[in-house]
Amino acid sequence: MKSKIHYTKPSITELEVSYATDAARNGWGEKCYEYIHKFEEKFKEFTGAKFAIATSSCTGALHMGLAALSVQAGDEVILAETNWIASASPVTYLCAKPIFVDVLEDTWCIDPAKVEAAITPRTKAIIAVHIYGNVCDMDKLLAIGEKYGIPVIEDAAEAIGSHWHGKHAGTVGKFGTFSFHGTKTLTTGEGGMFITNDPVLYEKVLTFSNHGRARGQTKQFWPDEIGFKYKMSNIQAAIGYGQMERIHELVSRKREIFNYYARALTNLSGLSMNPESENTKNGYWMPTLVFDASTGITREQLQKRFSEENIDARVFFHPLSSLPMFQDCPSNKIAWDIPNRAINLPSYHEISNEELDRVIKVIESFIER
Ligand SMILES: *Cc1c(COP(=O)(O)O)cnc(C)c1O
Repeated sequence: MKSKIHYTKPSITELEVSYATDAARNGWGEKCYEYIHKFEEKFKEFTGAKFAIATSSCTGALHMGLAALSVQAGDEVILAETNWIASASPVTYLCAKPIFVDVLEDTWCIDPAKVEAAITPRTKAIIAVHIYGNVCDMDKLLAIGEKYGIPVIEDAAEAIGSHWHGKHAGTVGKFGTFSFHGTKTLTTGEGGMFITNDPVLYEKVLTFSNHGRARGQTKQFWPDEIGFKYKMSNIQAAIGYGQMERIHELVSRKREIFNYYARALTNLSGLSMNPESENTKNGYWMPTLVFDASTGITREQLQKRFSEENIDARVFFHPLSSLPMFQDCPSNKIAWDIPNRAINLPSYHEISNEELDRVIKVIESFIER
């Protein structure tokens, strides 16, 4: 049996270990927020955001951000059908309804024309998810948001290192969220970040994030409202701080891996990979391959061949509306079709060229049939 090629694996060096050890040994009492603040500072510096709040997950960051926009029962929030469920769950926590619209054939991101068509008097927000690092058409989405007075927010969980018009993903809309789950480009094991340039929204989410206790409140243990508990621990933040010192290396390796695949594969006919649209930069969290429908290649065939080679390739996101808790929207044709002929390729930091070549060989074998 050939050695296993995992699809993701974190890159943790002595640097992260030494910070985490320091946090575990010394980061208590007066120092209990030290790494959290240092991590937030570094994150602001890297993304250019004015404000940042470290959280226990991206899901939690989205939940607090949507709550701060007063999303509530009866409201609708528009997002793409092609997504991980974490982008939709927080909408349901607030008893609002996620409205799933179709994606674009080339970016696999939300189709702005479908967003505009789905707007109703109950629409409270539009969530732009930069899927696999691919940047949404923010020009059109922002114009729609402005026209109807609806905030556009960015779930940039998969988009660290991605840019739109020179701005880091997550800093373009009303607020942005990130995930540091173990599969993401930057990891703290579990964790997330809320960023915004809006001081009022920042104060609101900061208060929410501290169980409703406002910064200026002088009475001890006095919450002014019901808040949330989605804090990151100082030990996780220490790992995140170490990862931030290596962020350029982490992102550029993702780009290097993507380009290695792309050089070998994009001149083959019958397939496409993550695009990098004009005026954008792709952080390429997850190199992804979509076979043209005309090839007849199916997800089942891909999964079978990859598992025979002991390669852990991952299925493209299922359309969210096809999950049991939502109502099917098969009219979102592109999002319902692509997963049947697509696959995510392994892309962890330490993957070797020999391993990449093994993956490429499997793909070539499909094209040559
Ligand atoms: C990973 C991911 C999330 C969830 O992040 P958690 O930190 O696990 O809550 C949310 N949205 C997208 C687009 C993701 O890829």
